[in-house]
Amino acid sequence: MDKKSNDTRPKWKLPKVNIPLVIFLVFVLVLIFLPNFFSSPGEITWYQFQKDMLKRKAVDRIVVINRETAEVYIKKEFSKDSAFADALRSPIIGGLNPGPHFTFNIGSVESFEHKLELAQQDVEADQRIPVSYQDKGSISDFLPWVIPAVLVFFMFRLLFRGQGDGAGGSSIFNFGRSTARLLENDKKSQVTFDDVAGLEEAKVEVKEIVDFLKDPKRYTKLGAKIPKGVIIVGPPGTGKTLLAKAVAGEAKVPFFSLSGSEFVEMFVGVGASRVRDLFKQAKEKAPCIVFIDEIDAVGRSRGKNALYTGANDERESTLNQLLTEMDGFGTNTGVIVLAATNRADILDPALLRPGRFDRHIYLELPNMVERRAIFVVHLKPLVLEENVDVDFLASQTPGFSGADIANICNEAALIAARKKKEKVEREDFLEAIDRIVAGLEKKSKIISPEEKKIIAYHEAGHAIVSWLLKYIDPLLKVSIIPRGKSLGAAWYLPEERQIRTVTQLTQRITAALAGRAAEEITFNEVSSGAVDDLEKVTKEAYTMVAYFGFNKKIGNISFYDSTGRNDNALQKPYSEETAKLIDEEVRKLVEACYQQAKTILIEHKDELIDIAELLLKREIIYKDEIEKVLGKRGVTVPPKLVATK
Ligand code: ADP
Repeated sequence: MDKKSNDTRPKWKLPKVNIPLVIFLVFVLVLIFLPNFFSSPGEITWYQFQKDMLKRKAVDRIVVINRETAEVYIKKEFSKDSAFADALRSPIIGGLNPGPHFTFNIGSVESFEHKLELAQQDVEADQRIPVSYQDKGSISDFLPWVIPAVLVFFMFRLLFRGQGDGAGGSSIFNFGRSTARLLENDKKSQVTFDDVAGLEEAKVEVKEIVDFLKDPKRYTKLGAKIPKGVIIVGPPGTGKTLLAKAVAGEAKVPFFSLSGSEFVEMFVGVGASRVRDLFKQAKEKAPCIVFIDEIDAVGRSRGKNALYTGANDERESTLNQLLTEMDGFGTNTGVIVLAATNRADILDPALLRPGRFDRHIYLELPNMVERRAIFVVHLKPLVLEENVDVDFLASQTPGFSGADIANICNEAALIAARKKKEKVEREDFLEAIDRIVAGLEKKSKIISPEEKKIIAYHEAGHAIVSWLLKYIDPLLKVSIIPRGKSLGAAWYLPEERQIRTVTQLTQRITAALAGRAAEEITFNEVSSGAVDDLEKVTKEAYTMVAYFGFNKKIGNISFYDSTGRNDNALQKPYSEETAKLIDEEVRKLVEACYQQAKTILIEHKDELIDIAELLLKREIIYKDEIEKVLGKRGVTVPPKLVATK
């Protein structure tokens, strides 16, 4: 017989009880009834005592407490008497209240005895009410407080214990423990390298780690050491976490994951102890992977900004502990630390030296081929109409990260479902892209006709100038439907460029200022609608002058600090004169671009009116209609900005 059939125990189970909830309910009930349960006996006067109780022979006995209070116990047979019923019934148990039922102040013992004597003159000696004397501390005074306090204590314990399963569940009683979440073998990461599209070079690098975790001997017998730590650097959403999960999934090892900020708490010393605990747990589960996301939260260069923060002791001690732990475990313990950040430049150099995070993998925003591959991964679960073309989608999404693409696919499916479609269509994807780029359409926003006119001319200005300047990304459409925070927008298809020239950047500033220029030409007045444009222009102009060395007067000098070490520094790395010069040159550059935008628009005033009026009529116009008004694209207006270089 096999083991299973031996088991003849009944298969029923107790229903699952939510223990914290039960405790909470008991707590509430106790709070409601406690005052009654411990209800103090009713206070009466000597007169009431004599008239209502003594005379009716209802009193069983009297206990004088601390020589000042008489506690009166009523005979049980009076429990049906309406005058005593309430005092005699115990509300919580429903049975008889053991008493005392009433109390009164006796004044002095002598006078009390005297009054009682008088009141019982004609009662036979053996029938008289027995009086006893007691001295006691008042436990019952603080009992009603102690019980809820104990209950609250236990309730908190239960609630907080329930919060974190798995490794190092967080609790108010063990905040020094690591908060890493563990994906164990049974629930292990299901992600494989097939789920990671593109990132071919990165995959090759991490595959070696997978091989090592699977078969460490192959490496160690040759004397090779596998890196202890791998740091993955890249903009948000480029697949850093995904890659780390894929490594764990492929190697089939436990995967601890936590964010750098989880180490740091308000209390000094917690971070370091969490790091210790994390590595202790990891070593127990080795071979395994520890993944620390956003490592810059702890790994920032030490000693920076000490001026402001009074040296961040907690973060520094956490980082020191991390460094020690990474040194401490040998290469063969089988714990590999993967870390992700989008700011490798600000990390402490000690963290990046060989023996710690010595392997660096750089991820970038995906190019068109990679975007196509990412789309293929994320389109798999969707039910698609035939008109959905992956190449087209990849071409429409330059500058998008993997996470954006995943988001677009899901958003498109939601849009299609909302429209009760059977399949997701191309339009749904376009709508999803627009929505992710510019936010939700807000057709209900109230805009007055005058405002609408200003917005239309503003957007028409952008459209015309960017159409006529050669190096501006191709224009797709212009709309004056409010979306997200903006009231109107011109949509471009960004081209993928690695470097930008002076002409390209100046043209971009010119196109960005064209909205305001159109307003000035048309209405002789400008509006606050250009604030986003101006912000962009200012940043770009300062970048050109102070970082790219595009300005003749400043020269080929860049004040860009790729180490981030002077972030928030009080002192600027240049003199007052240079600061003035930078400001002056930036102003000149922006002014020259603005004048250029105005010149172009004055030359094309009729077209400006045509496009603006078309926009007012239709709210959204596409490339073809703009082409009809302005002719084919590619006419270069030579930049008259010699002064800036
Ligand atoms: P981060 O770089 O910020 O850690 P994630 O790895 O968390 O980014 O990526 C977020 C999501 O974006 C992933 O869950 C995945 O759906 C999608 N994604 C990002 N990059 C890729 C990629 N190369 N292939 C497939 N999906 C990707």
